[in-house]
Amino acid sequence: MDLQRGIPRTCDCGAATIVLTSGTIKNPGRRFYRCGANSGQNHVFKWLDEDLAAIKAELDDMKKDITEIIKIIECLRMKS
Ligand SMILES: [Zn+2]
Repeated sequence: MDLQRGIPRTCDCGAATIVLTSGTIKNPGRRFYRCGANSGQNHVFKWLDEDLAAIKAELDDMKKDITEIIKIIECLRMKS
């Protein structure tokens, strides 16, 4: 699993990350999280919905894997 996914508790600079709601016209009410101390290229900034979409896609993949594993287990059971 990609360790970059999910909400990091701290930024690379060591400051805690904070969750905020965007108030811009372009992204009204959109939630994001960022470095609590600084903003800039080397600090955490991520849209929450983009991250959730990535996590959901990963979960869907896992579900498919689990379904496959269950099928294999059932096959093995039938043989024994
Ligand atoms: Zn930072």
